[in-house]
Amino acid sequence: MKKVIFPVVLLLAACTGAPPGTAGVVATSAAAAPTAGGAVAPAAATAAAAAGATGPAREFLLLPPNCRAPATPTTASTEGPFFKAGSPERASLVTAGMAGTRIQLFGFVVTRSCAPVAGAKVDIWQADANGNYDNTGYTLRGHVFTDKDGRYSIQTIVPGRYPGRTPHIHVKIIATGAPELTTQLYMPNEASNASDSIFRPELTVTLNAPGLATFTFIIDKP
Ligand code: FE
Repeated sequence: MKKVIFPVVLLLAACTGAPPGTAGVVATSAAAAPTAGGAVAPAAATAAAAAGATGPAREFLLLPPNCRAPATPTTASTEGPFFKAGSPERASLVTAGMAGTRIQLFGFVVTRSCAPVAGAKVDIWQADANGNYDNTGYTLRGHVFTDKDGRYSIQTIVPGRYPGRTPHIHVKIIATGAPELTTQLYMPNEASNASDSIFRPELTVTLNAPGLATFTFIIDKP
């Protein structure tokens, strides 16, 4: 299992009443945070750097997820026709020259009692910026494992639309003692969300800053 690495951004807990599916974090635009190299950079600039980077993401300070027990498990969604087993373990799905807006997707996997789940597999697959899946190779397919605090982080891009579908990221969460969770994540403020019959608002990621998207998965385990 590879080490989970997170982007630099200073985050504050917002531990009141957000619905399940949101991480209890917001970014501060005025604060500064140390970079991996030890320099101090404004959080907003660092967020942009993390979003645009194609190399390993930087570390960030993330407080516990906003989760109120008993929590409702994350809404499941259709797998669709393009899942492919055997994705590589990697913290970034972005390759050099890849088109699309970079996003760092991060958050937690927790149980219904809001306990963090270590070692959960977070497997992602999605279309590229033009709405096409790679069905011969593993472009924009990959997985990470949650760390001891139940955190995951993976860099990818905002997927493109394809006929009938608003931009979405397919996810499978596989954890010991819980049924496999297959679902899809959505971007906020996408006009095409409203016309997609598979779209569910509770599966929309929270954008803490440009390029920094969070989502907490709640698995069906006590
Ligand atoms: Fe799809």
